[in-house]
Amino acid sequence: MANNDPALAAVTGTSNQVHGGRLYVVSTPIGNLGDLSPRAQQVLAQVDCIAAEDTRTSGGLLQAFGIKTRCVTLHQHNEAASAAGLIAEMQAGRSVALISDAGTPLVSDPGFLLVREARAAGLTVLAVPGPSALLAALAISGLPTDQFSFIGFLPSKAGARGRQLQQLAGRPETLIFYESPHRVKACAEQMVEVLGAQRPICVARELTKRYEESYSGPAAGALQWLAEKTTRQKGEFVIVVGGAPAPVAAELGADDEMLGVLMQVLEPSAAARTAAQLSGGSRNALYKRALQLSGAGRPDDELA
Ligand code: SAM
Repeated sequence: MANNDPALAAVTGTSNQVHGGRLYVVSTPIGNLGDLSPRAQQVLAQVDCIAAEDTRTSGGLLQAFGIKTRCVTLHQHNEAASAAGLIAEMQAGRSVALISDAGTPLVSDPGFLLVREARAAGLTVLAVPGPSALLAALAISGLPTDQFSFIGFLPSKAGARGRQLQQLAGRPETLIFYESPHRVKACAEQMVEVLGAQRPICVARELTKRYEESYSGPAAGALQWLAEKTTRQKGEFVIVVGGAPAPVAAELGADDEMLGVLMQVLEPSAAARTAAQLSGGSRNALYKRALQLSGAGRPDDELA
C-alpha cells in the first residue's frame, strides 16, 4: 500500500510529495516483496511514468502493490533511445521512476546512461534506496566491511576469469562478486586455485527468499558446501571474498601482476619464462602460477 502518511514525513523531516521534472531511482526487492519500502511504494504510485528493465517482470511487483502507473522499458538494448524520451518527458514537467528487475538500478543493471543524461540536462535525480544483493551479502558475510570493492560478474570463460582473479588476488580489501548458478561451482573452484584454499569466503544464495542460505569459511569448504545438496547450485548467488593478508598481498601482487600483463600477449609457459628472467624467480613456480591464473592449472604441472 502506498504510504502518504504525514506522520512519516514529520519523522523524516522531509516531504514525501513526488514532484514533476524529477528522476527517482528506486530500489525494489531482491526476492522478498516485504522489502519494498513504503516510500518506494508511494513514489512508484505517484510518478507519471515508471522506466522498467522488463515491464513483465516489474508488472508482477506493481500489481502486488496495486500500482497502476504507466510503464515504459529501459534495458541495455534500448537505453539511449529510451533515456532520450524520458528526459524529454521530465523536461516537460513529468516525473519518472527508474526501476530494474530486482534490487538497485545501475548495480549490474541498466540506468547509468539515463542518470548521466538526466544530470547533464540539469534535472534533479533523487534516490529511493533499498535492497541490493551486494550489500545484503556483505552485511551477513562476517568479512571486513571497512573497505570493499564490488567486482560484479566475472568473465564467463575460465581463462579470462582466471586472469581477472589473478589481478585481484593481492587486493587487501573485501571483494564482492555476482555469479550465475551455471558457473558458481567452476568459479569457486578457480577461487580456491588462484586465491588459495584458506582464503575466507562467503557464498550467499537466494538472499531474502524462502530458501536463503549461506556458507562462510575457508574457500575449500565452499566447494564441499556447494556439493552437499543438489539444490545448492541453483538460484541467485553473491560471493564475498576476504582480502589478501598483507604479506601475501605484496608477494602475489608483484608476481601476479607481471604474469597478468605478460599473459595478455604470451602463452603461460612463455609468460613464466619471461617473468622468471625479469624477477629472478623460479620458472616452475611461475609456470604453475600462470596455469592456475589462466584456469588451466594442475598441481603437478612442470615446465619442459
Ligand atoms: N541490481 C541488483 C542488485 O542491486 O543487487 C543486481 C542485478 S544483477 C543483474 C543480478 C545478480 O545479482 C544475480 O545474478 C545474483 O548474482 C545477484 N542477486 C540478485 N538477487 C539475489 C538474491 N536474492 N540472492 C543472491 N544473489 C542475488
